[in-house]
Amino acid sequence: MNRELQNSETNPLEAMLHRFDIAAKRLDLDPGLYQILERPDREIIVAIPVQMEDRSIKVFTGYRVQHSVARGPGKGGVRFDRNVTLDEVRALAAWMTWKCAVVNVPFGGAKGGVICDPGKMTQVELERLTRRYMASIMDLIGPDRDVPAPDVNTNPQIMAWMMDTYSMHMRQSQPGVVTGKPIELGGSHGRVRATGYGVGLMTRESLYRMGLDPKQCKAAVQGAGNVGGVSAESLHALGIKVCAISDISGALYNDDGLDMSVVSAHLREHRTLEGLTCGDHIDGDAVLTLDVDVLVPAALENVITQKNAHDVKATVIVEGANGPMTPSAEAILDERGIFVCPDILANAGGVTVSYFEWVQNRLGYYWDERDVNERLEKIMVDAFQSVCGLADRESVSARTASYMLAIERVAHVYKLRGLYA
Ligand code: NAD
Repeated sequence: MNRELQNSETNPLEAMLHRFDIAAKRLDLDPGLYQILERPDREIIVAIPVQMEDRSIKVFTGYRVQHSVARGPGKGGVRFDRNVTLDEVRALAAWMTWKCAVVNVPFGGAKGGVICDPGKMTQVELERLTRRYMASIMDLIGPDRDVPAPDVNTNPQIMAWMMDTYSMHMRQSQPGVVTGKPIELGGSHGRVRATGYGVGLMTRESLYRMGLDPKQCKAAVQGAGNVGGVSAESLHALGIKVCAISDISGALYNDDGLDMSVVSAHLREHRTLEGLTCGDHIDGDAVLTLDVDVLVPAALENVITQKNAHDVKATVIVEGANGPMTPSAEAILDERGIFVCPDILANAGGVTVSYFEWVQNRLGYYWDERDVNERLEKIMVDAFQSVCGLADRESVSARTASYMLAIERVAHVYKLRGLYA
């Protein structure tokens, strides 16, 4: 367990393993189980040839990594991005194992990624890429094997193409093979908003824990996509003043609180903050160090580092994104008494409603949004209390407690199942 960590500031896999090591040590995890859990069960790398609209052929690289399928089918999104790396997908797959275990949904952890620049591709090219990727990884995928979902730059339409490709091969409709589908194809009410809605719930609980009244608080959100945009709306619904939000185009700031109805309507129509005039335009990275009570990083990995951790002014950080904070930044923030609601808890709303979607697909019976949100709230608030209870008993951070809770649950299942020799 004495791993040399040299790049945990930049490599998400090292950052994940650093946290895993701390929790495993606290748990005195059996060395055999440690070896099983520190690496993925299975990983596949595929070459994806696509005929582009100008008739040229481009070959993309795609990954699917299953970290663990011990507690149930693999579960995890697919990311389309030019910066995807195998180590990133490995880290994200392991985070899915821990996330599903923290909220106690019966899934393992997996993740997929394709190195591509979707902003520069046409819809036709994206559809070809998606279908060929699904066809190439299909041997690992299935409603009882591994169930993909949306992540960065993927969406319900891409899930529909993945579901259709798999179903064509199976010769029957298989809605339970992916989640995050359009409602008309068996998607769940509340799924699109679930991650951001869950971030709102976890912000509310974190503020209560710190003795703060949401109605007296200001917030800044990094990211204005699926997670960031809905998180900002959810904070606003709690009575928090959302003073800043950023995306790749920059940041919008108003110390009196942004008019969220204007921001949301603009985002729904244009998917970017560009063109909004209801605040001052400031440098994108400045949102991380604004004078606010709540900070929600909901865009990228490794944005809070040892370089800017001292300048963070928020009292509560709720991690909408996966891995937005490096281990060394976290040590600084812990020292300063800042409460961090960790990613594997804070953004687990998405996978929880993905689980509901998968259940509804199997039942063939569909719930309304209120039903979905009530079930989601119960699961997430219970998980928050379990994590904080453990953190208090063990005198550890909420991050270490969430890893401890997750690792213990996953390790217990491995012990029950035993090894197939
Ligand atoms: P998305 O593609 O919908 O949005 C990403 C957002 O980040 C966009 O607004 C983009 O402009 C912004 N962004 C990109 N580069 C930026 C930069 N340099 N500075 C500021 N903003 C920048 O993706 P998403 O689904 O919202 O995912 C965001 C994060 O949340 C990822 O870490 C993802 O793994 C995680 N996550 C997503 C879900 C989900 O259900 N979609 C669930 C759990 C975790």
